[in-house]
Amino acid sequence: MHDSVRVGVYVCHCGRNIEGTIDVREVAEYAATLPGVALARDYRYMCSDPGQELIRQDIRDQDLNRVVVAACSPCLHEKTFRHVLEQAGLNPYFFQMVNIREHASWVHEDRRAATVKAKDLIRAAVRRVRLHRPLERRQVSIHPDVLVVGGGIAGIHAALTLANSGKHVYLVEREPTIGGHMAQFDKTFPTLDCAACILTPKMTAVKMHPKITLWTLSEVARVEGYVGNYQVTVRRKPRYVLEDVCIGCLECIEACVYKQAKVPDAFNVGLSKRKPVYIPFPQAVPQVVVIDPETCIEFKSGRCKKTCVEVCADRKAIDFHQQEELKTIDVGAIILATGFQVFDGRRLPYYGYGAYPNVYTALEVERLVNAAGPTAGEIVMRDGRRPRSVGIVHCVGSRDVHTNAYCSRVCCMYSLKLAHLIKERTSAEVYNFYIDIRAPGKGFEEFYNRVAEEGTYLVRGKVADVYPADHDGRLMLQVEDTLLGMVRKIPVDMVVLATGLEPQADAQQVRRLFNISCSTEGFFLERHPKLAPVSTFTEGIFLAGCCQGPKDIPDSVAQAGAAAGEALALIDAGSIELEPNTAHVLAEACSGCKTCVPMCPYQAISFNETEKKAQINEVLCKGCGTCVAACPSGSIQQNLFEDDEIFEEIAGVLEYA
Ligand SMILES: Cc1cc2nc3c(=O)[nH]c(=O)nc-3n(C[C@H](O)[C@H](O)[C@H](O)COP(=O)(O)OP(=O)(O)OC[C@H]3O[C@@H](n4cnc5c(N)ncnc54)[C@H](O)[C@@H]3O)c2cc1C
Repeated sequence: MHDSVRVGVYVCHCGRNIEGTIDVREVAEYAATLPGVALARDYRYMCSDPGQELIRQDIRDQDLNRVVVAACSPCLHEKTFRHVLEQAGLNPYFFQMVNIREHASWVHEDRRAATVKAKDLIRAAVRRVRLHRPLERRQVSIHPDVLVVGGGIAGIHAALTLANSGKHVYLVEREPTIGGHMAQFDKTFPTLDCAACILTPKMTAVKMHPKITLWTLSEVARVEGYVGNYQVTVRRKPRYVLEDVCIGCLECIEACVYKQAKVPDAFNVGLSKRKPVYIPFPQAVPQVVVIDPETCIEFKSGRCKKTCVEVCADRKAIDFHQQEELKTIDVGAIILATGFQVFDGRRLPYYGYGAYPNVYTALEVERLVNAAGPTAGEIVMRDGRRPRSVGIVHCVGSRDVHTNAYCSRVCCMYSLKLAHLIKERTSAEVYNFYIDIRAPGKGFEEFYNRVAEEGTYLVRGKVADVYPADHDGRLMLQVEDTLLGMVRKIPVDMVVLATGLEPQADAQQVRRLFNISCSTEGFFLERHPKLAPVSTFTEGIFLAGCCQGPKDIPDSVAQAGAAAGEALALIDAGSIELEPNTAHVLAEACSGCKTCVPMCPYQAISFNETEKKAQINEVLCKGCGTCVAACPSGSIQQNLFEDDEIFEEIAGVLEYA
């Protein structure tokens, strides 16, 4: 193979990105002297059309059979150049890319040293590419159905977009109703639209859509397969009420032997109580009651009079014997829209949340100002009083290295919204304590000006302490006013903590289930922040809404539309080509030790009991190399990363230029 090899080497200037630090001409001249190299050129932009044409032409005219491009990261242009080889009639895997931008020009200031490093890397690539074998991509068909996990505004929008374009969608939501956090708000910034008025029609549309299968009280238990062909097992928890029989008349709630509601109502963030049989909120979808086995007397003692069953005697919708079900579905793509959780105010004890009853979180106040909330929209504090002065503390659990260093992006705006609503409902004096106001969205600055003009006091400074002011239940806020340059103590009746947005508590479990990554903050990681913001590193799995990072409703909806578009593009292609960089077992060398089997993160390795050898399903293999590294007898090899190729590259880089 070595003798007949004719390598073409192409050194890219990448404008000044590479050429500014590396002497590209000298590198190309050096490459031309390497054994096996038929020609070497430097060119301004190898990825441009003329750059690509140059390679195609040389392959034909100069009879090249291997190509090395020294340019940027293979993540950006490896596909481009492989395609060029293919177009010129060469196997696309007779190619090696050298990253002399991120690995040399961008990380060095010394032109000489960077030039020498570029030569070393190219020499290694030339030695390696000579050993490359021809490889074929595998074509697999794509299942047309899509799974959407999470039924907040992002999941709802993605599901409706896909279903409206004719795809069958499974929408899996773990709560008894869809709606997510948006269902808890009264108004939304900056336009102050009624949240329910814009959300509930979409929720109903989901329920009515013939192309959407909605599973509430459900979670994904297992994910197998690969892009285009995922097998997903969904665990459906019992509701103890037959969903297709219950008409939501709510008579069972009336009839429940609990004379008074005693259980903290999660939808109202514990500000009201519910019975063991309940409906989360009046517009819940599905409009079906649910029985909570943790608090229902029948489940606890088996000695309830079951008055709920009596009032439903005609319909027989209540079923205490309902069991958990496992459903397995086939889908081609998955959209994760599992949202966020709110920062727990108790983690910052100096703000007094949990210690002083009149310290609230913003989400609690969202429920208080809501006409369908625990106080029917009246702002009444836990001690029964109406506040005459309110202090809203921004950035609680955000922009602080001791909690979360990132900005939660929505708190400034929802704090201004709450300031407006509290003033409108109570005429109270409202103070907003901010580090700086972040209002970069459409109509946000105007909304900020409006709230300021309404007479809300804006104090620039981080609140350091909240403590009782006097015996009337008032609270003192201590803050350094950075505009006045002095410490101020401001007494208020009510404190509202603008708690930030955090990854869901189970984000790491969900990440593992779907084989995706999380960023350092714990939100799901996108494939590329600019070029692939809704894709993940696992093909066919997309992200929408706050599970990827804090964002407002317009951005969540926009991202959900983008994720649905990506899923549609994948599915409508009908089939997909899988890269051949997979691992394979050299059966004659395999000792049958099974070390590799549990190591595979993709369940691609099984053990053949008859032959006593490991075997790899190349369709499931993602080419991560874990098994290759783990195999004690070295009997697993990976296409494009065969031992001889790697050793040749190492020898090449160590060889003196
Ligand atoms: C106090 C407050 C006020 C706000 N006010 C505004 C406003 O006025 N205007 C605005 O634009 N934005 C506002 N926001 C931001 C807004 O809440 C988010 O932009 C929006 O809710 C994001 O929607 P989502 O679907 O991504 O997430 P979520 O609303 O969190 O929905 C996620 C859904 O996924 C479900 N889920 C989670 N994990 C799983 C799982 N493993 N399996 C199945 N289901 C799962 C959840 O139960 C939930 O239904 C506010 C935020 C807060 C905290």
